[in-house]
Amino acid sequence: MRLKNKVAVITGGGSGIGRATALIFAREGASVVVAELNGDQGKQTVDELLSLGHDARFIQTNVSVFEDVQAAVDLAADHYGRLDIMFNNAGIGINKPLLEHEPADFDRVVKVNQYGVYYGILAAGRKMRDLKTGGVIINTASVFALLASPGVIGYHASKGAVKMMTQAAALELAPLGIRVVAIAPGGVDTPIIQGYKDAGLGEMMARQQMRGKLQTPEAIAEIVAFLASSEADAINGSMVMTDDGFAEF
Ligand code: NAD
Repeated sequence: MRLKNKVAVITGGGSGIGRATALIFAREGASVVVAELNGDQGKQTVDELLSLGHDARFIQTNVSVFEDVQAAVDLAADHYGRLDIMFNNAGIGINKPLLEHEPADFDRVVKVNQYGVYYGILAAGRKMRDLKTGGVIINTASVFALLASPGVIGYHASKGAVKMMTQAAALELAPLGIRVVAIAPGGVDTPIIQGYKDAGLGEMMARQQMRGKLQTPEAIAEIVAFLASSEADAINGSMVMTDDGFAEF
């Protein structure tokens, strides 16, 4: 029970990596606030947690809207009296060649993947400061923060920003006892990739991983739980590669 009595907010907790992390955080003893845009999916995660005897709450959240993210953080602090872990994980992809872009395509992905993480850092950082408890903020980046792939320029921009926001926030929040880290998954078998079946994104990403297969969301969630725990106390400001050695080969 590495997260016993801890309270976590997970954005995008209704699916994929966020959902798997909600289950593993709860297994490790945390109470979980599932902050999710999709009401049905978010409630499903919470129902599953409750049915397993865990403590969880749902709040409908659009991470592109600061007030929504603030409300999720407030729910944790008001209901449980603490906020120990903020997992800024919600994200979307857009797969479209650069020259076919409408500027709005770029705005949409950056607004979720980049602003969503920034809002989460801001709201959670302030709350942890006010509660004087310290805490851990974990952001979901991607191997695409480092390596280019065709058709996803907005995704690259947003995930590269997540990498550097993680380092910058870690520096400023360290005096408050708050660690900030990021994960960089490669290809993970979740709906975000399954949505690009026609483009063969899943197969392509599987081929680029050293063991030739997509990872499970549970495998990523185990690493997130480790990063959230005191066992990872020496990791701060880093983007941890959780990508099975993703490379061009
Ligand atoms: P997913 O589609 O299963 O989960 C994403 C969740 O975020 C969904 O539940 C979705 O409803 C939610 N969401 C989308 N927009 C939102 C918004 N505006 N506000 C709140 N919630 C919103 O995909 P996933 O693979 O679990 O993605 C989780 C994170 O992992 C994302 O940031 C994604 O970019 C990142 N990632 C995924 C992979 C992969 O291969 N699956 C690789 C690298 C990084």
